[in-house]
Amino acid sequence: MNALNGKKALVTGGSRGIGAATALRLAEQGADVAVTYVQGEEAAREVVAKIEAMGRRGLALRADLGASADAADAVERTAEAFGGLDILVNNAGVGVLAPLDRLSPADVDRVLAVNVRGVFLASQAAAARLPRGGRIITIGSCMAQRVPGPGGTLYALSKSALIGLTKALARELGGRGINATVIHPGPIDTDMNPADGPTAADQAAMTSLGRYGTADEVASMVTYLAGDGAAYVTGAELSVDGGYAA
Ligand code: NDP
Repeated sequence: MNALNGKKALVTGGSRGIGAATALRLAEQGADVAVTYVQGEEAAREVVAKIEAMGRRGLALRADLGASADAADAVERTAEAFGGLDILVNNAGVGVLAPLDRLSPADVDRVLAVNVRGVFLASQAAAARLPRGGRIITIGSCMAQRVPGPGGTLYALSKSALIGLTKALARELGGRGINATVIHPGPIDTDMNPADGPTAADQAAMTSLGRYGTADEVASMVTYLAGDGAAYVTGAELSVDGGYAA
């Protein structure tokens, strides 16, 4: 159970949903974990309290990935507090789904700032600090691979950019023994995409398994990729989508 003993991790958007589940899984495996939040300070503090109850160090940091300096700053503050950084999980993201003619330039700027620029800047700051064996694990989306209907232009654009980023990071950092991977979740029951939402039945029907996934099912893939068992996995896209892309 302690495969990540002594590792230091940062999970962006760790106050709820997939990020919170990931932070708790990493701590369960022995890692110290910092989480970032924007609105959910209390929720982030509750995640930290659970991490500390497992005997690990926890840290809650406010960081809006859409703001220019926050992503790199969160990496620096985590490394300072924990004395280093081994694992960056780029989880925070915003889901904006709308018909093409209803997306404004401001929507484009915000989604790309959070989902792409913030991920780039956090990864860049982490790359400067990660030791051999370090990991950059990014949460993409099944919509980076397959867009099953209208309304996904901006979101799919932002998430598919993370595939290119991940492959290029793997090439750039491989010589230092640092791995970069991207996970594509299918429909996962969170505040962003509740399993009782208006389009939930259609989304579930698009998977092979006919159901939503849980945040914990994504978190367990993150934990695998963070561990020694995934030492030879880099530059890869891993689907946790119930067969959505099959
Ligand atoms: P939630 O909306 O449940 O949680 C989002 C998290 O990101 C929260 O912790 C939130 O913080 C944080 N966040 C929101 N905006 C910003 C911002 N501007 N800067 C920094 N952090 C921010 O989302 P999920 O858990 O569902 O999604 C997590 C990731 O998984 C996202 O990248 C999403 O695109 C991706 N994904 C989700 C799927 C799903 O079906 N749920 C499917 C495929 C991919 P706070 O609450 O403190 O404001």
